[in-house]
Amino acid sequence: MTLRCLRQADLKCCCFQGNVQQHSCPANLRKVSMSLQPFYPSSGYTRRGFTKSAALALGLGAVLPWKQNPMATPTYPSLPQDEKLGIALVGMGNYATNQLAPALKETQLCKLAGIVTGTPAKATMWQERQPDLEGHIYNYDTFDRIAEDEAIDIVYVVLPNSMHAEYTIRAAKAGKHVICEKPMAVSVAECQAMIDACEAANRKLYIGYRLHYEPHNVEAMRLGQENVFGDMKYIHNAFGFRIGDPTQWRLKKALAGGGALMDVGIYALQAARYVTGEEPVEVTAQEYKTDPVKFAEVDETLTWQLTFPSGCVANCSTSYAARAERLYAAAENGWLELRPAYGYGGIQGQTSEGPMDFPHVNQQAHHMDAIAESIINGHDLLIDGYEGMRDMRVIEAIYESIETGAPVSL
Ligand code: NDP
Repeated sequence: MTLRCLRQADLKCCCFQGNVQQHSCPANLRKVSMSLQPFYPSSGYTRRGFTKSAALALGLGAVLPWKQNPMATPTYPSLPQDEKLGIALVGMGNYATNQLAPALKETQLCKLAGIVTGTPAKATMWQERQPDLEGHIYNYDTFDRIAEDEAIDIVYVVLPNSMHAEYTIRAAKAGKHVICEKPMAVSVAECQAMIDACEAANRKLYIGYRLHYEPHNVEAMRLGQENVFGDMKYIHNAFGFRIGDPTQWRLKKALAGGGALMDVGIYALQAARYVTGEEPVEVTAQEYKTDPVKFAEVDETLTWQLTFPSGCVANCSTSYAARAERLYAAAENGWLELRPAYGYGGIQGQTSEGPMDFPHVNQQAHHMDAIAESIINGHDLLIDGYEGMRDMRVIEAIYESIETGAPVSL
């Protein structure tokens, strides 16, 4: 479908899942976006004070107590199937096949409309699984023909990290909006080139930061950025797992760009940024290797320390050899903890005031619907290319600090 087909009047009603607010007809998506806009500003983390204005916009009259604030997960009125935005998944590996494609069966505003795969057997399998993909299946050589495919509005790049930049730029040149998986790319220079290509083509660029649509993590953002427990003082975040197959692309520098940091450490880094709502001004980092053969090309275990302008400090770690998953933030008068913190489900949260009690949501479905809504209504989301580049800037500084053994100013 094309965006021209979408009319605001087609969108009948909406509600905020898990929240007290229920809009009834005749609300439309623009109203949804106006209510949500304060939570997803496009220009970095400047959300201090937003909750109150958003609550007022929703008619609630006061800052919401945290137990009632899972606003990460708006739900939308479902568009007819032939009017949903079409998404083409590029790279039909584990994440695209087992998370994104199933999530696209739960989305209200977008649907799976094409795939790009270099594996003929996968093309056959998808053609059988979803017959309406016929004519919308590409490989890496035929990819650029997607420009003529009107069924595809958004290209979702789910390839090994070092391929993100090339396919994002090619998708933008083909006139498509782009969602690119994390890490956005393998260098700041690549991130900038991707942003430039999308801006030149007047297409939007989003990063696969699904936790911005996960209620516990959104609540951690609110508690930290709103200083609910006073000024934030220190953060301890960790994300690691024991990686298997030694031949996989994640252990090859040319495809992965780096190791645990690029893959999962980026979550611990992002969380330090979104809990404080600040950009770090200095980073110091250390590297540890217990298996120099398996991790000959990429990092195995890293720790790093961030200093924020407010004086808050974060101590973060990541590993391909040890299992860890935690977000912990301590403020003057209280603390918050998510453990586990960053997965697709099972996230648990507690604070010094008691446990969080938010529902499990399909983050990927909410993420893609929020993106579709922002394209339909023409507004920006925080999870854009600039946000991806902010993380990459810190990642480069972490590697530089390891190399030089000295703190790096940002
Ligand atoms: P997989 O290895 O499972 O899939 C990658 C796919 O890319 C392959 O199956 C293949 O698909 C395609 N591909 C093309 N060229 C190559 C190549 N040279 N080597 C390997 N694969 C190639 O990876 P994931 O799905 O786990 O990860 C893909 C991306 O998604 C990564 O950037 C990762 O960081 C991100 N990701 C994000 C997650 C999140 O929670 N946001 C979770 C997991 C991953 P085909 O055969 O169809 O061509």
